[in-house]
Amino acid sequence: MGDNIFLKIIRKEIPADIVYEDEEILAFYDIHPIAPVHILVVPKKPIESIATMDDEDAAVVGRMFLVARDIARDLNISEKGYKLLIRVGKDGGQEVPHLHLHLLGGARLSENIHPI
Ligand code: AMP
Repeated sequence: MGDNIFLKIIRKEIPADIVYEDEEILAFYDIHPIAPVHILVVPKKPIESIATMDDEDAAVVGRMFLVARDIARDLNISEKGYKLLIRVGKDGGQEVPHLHLHLLGGARLSENIHPI
């Protein structure tokens, strides 16, 4: 399993603006936000992507959504709504090879999904 920037953040080797942490999940602000609220929710276990996750990872992946739900409530964007985005692999535009759930909100967001 190769190293990557999110594993370094999880190990506290590089700083991040952390909004939530427990034994198996970390959430922190995206360094290049594309929405007024842009937070990444990641498993501490080195799961590369949805495409390569094991069946046994289903519980922690499910909990990532509960953490996103609770952060959205805490930041008062739950009522107006938000997007949850997971990129998978090259065509999905995934840049960091460690599973992450984007929580995007704080404004009405465009769709903007098209082939490039
Ligand atoms: P993706 O394209 O879905 O793989 O998303 C990777 C995300 O990680 C991008 O939105 C980046 O802005 C974000 N990112 C990269 N490095 C950092 C970092 N050091 N701290 C916080 N977010 C980061």
